[in-house]
Amino acid sequence: MSSLGMNSRGEVRTASEFKDMFDDTGISASPYKCPFCEVLYVDKCIVTECVKAPHFGLVPKGEAHRNGCNGEATDSGVVTTSKPSRAPKGIVAGDIDLPEALVSRRNPTRLRQPGGDDNGPPPDVTEVRRRRRIVVGDPTIQSCFTTYNIRNIVEAYKRLRSKVHDAAVALGQSPGTDEYKKTFRASLEFHPLVLKKVKLNYRIAFSNSKLFPSRDNRIYSGNGTILIDDKFIVIQDNDVWPATFERTKSAPLTVRIARTLPPESPTTHARALAELEQLALEQKPIDWWAYGTATLHHDRFEILVESFDHLYWKNQYNPSARSTQPES
Ligand SMILES: [Zn+2]
Repeated sequence: MSSLGMNSRGEVRTASEFKDMFDDTGISASPYKCPFCEVLYVDKCIVTECVKAPHFGLVPKGEAHRNGCNGEATDSGVVTTSKPSRAPKGIVAGDIDLPEALVSRRNPTRLRQPGGDDNGPPPDVTEVRRRRRIVVGDPTIQSCFTTYNIRNIVEAYKRLRSKVHDAAVALGQSPGTDEYKKTFRASLEFHPLVLKKVKLNYRIAFSNSKLFPSRDNRIYSGNGTILIDDKFIVIQDNDVWPATFERTKSAPLTVRIARTLPPESPTTHARALAELEQLALEQKPIDWWAYGTATLHHDRFEILVESFDHLYWKNQYNPSARSTQPES
């Protein structure tokens, strides 16, 4: 299995980047090929939700790469997850791959020579080497399980919590007991999560109204109602948040995101904006998640969200649900 693939335009991306694109648009970039030797690939866990990280397999199974290629940019082979195969005692690892990093959207790297197309001859040894050098030298290509949308991280977090809960209960630990809390804490901390280069884990990367907000970016969550003004969508959280570490004072919290989209924004951002404007009209409360920093201004916390990739809410428009509806 490989973590890098190429679409018919000769652009190399990681399997998780192809998954993000599919989640956004509902359109698969298949057929995929090995970006180096162009042997045919099949995508795994890209158009379907699964417990494994997105990756590619060879078609047919047992087919081999050619001209010194192993499907990766280096000879050391696949770098997928850093997770040890067995979790230490007292930790529930769960048989799932979780996104390991929140990254920025990036432009794809084109690997084919100018004029090369999907019907060209297979790359020879020199060409395979040239392509591998390009990928090795490109620091924006990360072979771990990344995503640019917090949606994938939030959904993985929910799956992990429910797995840890089930496992702890199966061990006879009741929710609320010290034993249960210890298992929960250790199990979430066991799973690394990098938020824009800041190394955290699946416990400390998340926060809510029960904790004094960190000075750094986190994924915050709550339940709130939506208002719109001239410039911003504003989610007013229904809870008060601790305004001191000792929780002696509290303050309301709002999440803001600009209603003006930057040029060349993906169409999914326009759709997310329209959906929030509609929810504001309907006065429906939402369960929200936002990546950013909660800062205190005039006795009120504010999280200013930079991109619609960093704001997610329950039942947010989901293109994979669309494919189950009849075509019109
Ligand atoms: Zn290959």
